[in-house]
Amino acid sequence: MKLIYRLLSIIFLIGSILWLPPTKAATISEQAQVIDEVISLCNYYNTYCSVRIVDDFRNVAYTKNNDITISNTLANNFPKDELRGILYHELGHVLNQHSQKGQAIMNQIQTMGKSITPLEAKQIRHRFEYEADAKATQLLYENKKPQSLSKALMRISKGRDRNKDTISHPSTNQRVRNINKYYLMLRKNAYGY
Ligand SMILES: [Zn+2]
Repeated sequence: MKLIYRLLSIIFLIGSILWLPPTKAATISEQAQVIDEVISLCNYYNTYCSVRIVDDFRNVAYTKNNDITISNTLANNFPKDELRGILYHELGHVLNQHSQKGQAIMNQIQTMGKSITPLEAKQIRHRFEYEADAKATQLLYENKKPQSLSKALMRISKGRDRNKDTISHPSTNQRVRNINKYYLMLRKNAYGY
């Protein structure tokens, strides 16, 4: 009996793996489409922004002031929807003016003759990450795009401890939990369930 269950579960496992749709990386024109969406949203919010792709073997994306940078590795290997999720997260940093706010906080603390503690720096950076995730979730929702940021975060953190945070980022699991909670809140506000 046990053997039958084991066999059945193995067959089920193989079946479910075969049933998974293959991951199709974004084509060059799809990458351009998603970048256009981001620029259009910046225009909509009357905010300047730029997006550039740089040569880097790592999966990285970052934003300085209003300039978004993503690595060619990330752009060439992630599906279109997930690439959008990541770019909307970066757009969240632009629209929330995180670079400028971070700099202002640093200046203010320096003016007072103090220096920022590592814990304070971490708390500020984590708050900015949650805010950018929330903004991305909201933008995806309002523009009727798939909620793909969580999937992209899971792909980026593949092989890493998803419960571990860093100085710059909260843990992937915590981010995914918050994104899902925020999405449910948006839905509830719109539909009442
Ligand atoms: Zn970020």
